[in-house]
Amino acid sequence: MTGIFCNFDIDFKKMESLFKISGEKIECLLCPHFCKIAKGKTGICGVRKNAGDKIDLITYGVISGYSLDPVEKKPLYHFFPGQNILSVGSYGCNMRCDFCQNCNISQHVPDRLIADTTPEKLVLDAHSADKNIGLAFTYNEPSIWFEFIRDTAIIAKDEGLSTVMVSNGYINPDPLNELTRVIDAFNIDLKAFNNIFYKKLTGAEMEPVKSSLKQIAESGKHLEITTLIIPGQNDDDKEMELQSKWIASELGKGVPLHLSRFFPRYHRTDPSTPQDTLSRLYSIAAQNLDYVYVGNSNSDTGQNTSCPVCSTIITIRTGYQVKLLNLNAKGRCINCGTLIYKNFTP
Ligand code: SF4
Ligand code: SF4
Repeated sequence: MTGIFCNFDIDFKKMESLFKISGEKIECLLCPHFCKIAKGKTGICGVRKNAGDKIDLITYGVISGYSLDPVEKKPLYHFFPGQNILSVGSYGCNMRCDFCQNCNISQHVPDRLIADTTPEKLVLDAHSADKNIGLAFTYNEPSIWFEFIRDTAIIAKDEGLSTVMVSNGYINPDPLNELTRVIDAFNIDLKAFNNIFYKKLTGAEMEPVKSSLKQIAESGKHLEITTLIIPGQNDDDKEMELQSKWIASELGKGVPLHLSRFFPRYHRTDPSTPQDTLSRLYSIAAQNLDYVYVGNSNSDTGQNTSCPVCSTIITIRTGYQVKLLNLNAKGRCINCGTLIYKNFTP
């Protein structure tokens, strides 16, 4: 590590005012909930606390999980395929998904929190990890960990590491704008393409998530999308047609979409998603998008990458194992020259 020197022109003063004092309460401006928090209490996410004259992030430096993962596990299939990324999460979430796969850390913030790390230490750890491209903020909802992610990502970028966020996208435009300056790649959940689902199953609204997706696409940062398919809730053919057409027209048909298989978790006890449903929705989305994948599943559908122009097979995936084929050193299809992986280590 060459020292903590920041080349990024971030307006810290502006970002320190991610809140507004109104009488005894403080309004948090980080996400579209705009919680008005009483003194000594936290907002919906459970980690942003009214400390009298400001909001404190009580999980700054507090880690719930830490693992060197294949980048495919995020999932990101078009960002340095075949490499690892040091992945880290904390506690809390600003959504209340009744199907949460990580409810033990997202819906529960321990009473006693111990800061295990610092931005500097995490960056040092990332440097010493094997075949590692950088740092991913994931597991619980990272956007509510804003200050810690911002501080860490600034140093990571200065040190030549890549930065990733796996998020529900429920964040206001100003803080997201700051994150797009220091985060290289995002996987954002688009949990359904109907607001009734969002209101009923997540406790949030869909429109701010769509706005975040557009903002990230416009920023030019790498973007992939995940939709967990829950039987009877978001597995309608028409809805997938509308969703994939919207992604193509508003974000670009080259944005990868991951359709992920649901397994019963937390409050939801429905059976897991049938393979037929995933295959059917895959076929619909693939009519509108260049790259559609099926995740959490051992079916053959939606595992590999083919060139969208000449159909040459580019990548074969078996679980998180990746076999890269027919690519030149710049991540282009060797047959027709189409750019497949902008971010690529030959
Ligand atoms: S980040 Fe947390 S405290 Fe702030 S508005 Fe969102 S849920 Fe409320
Ligand atoms: S947004 Fe993600 S972490 Fe938060 S409750 Fe929903 S599934 Fe869990």
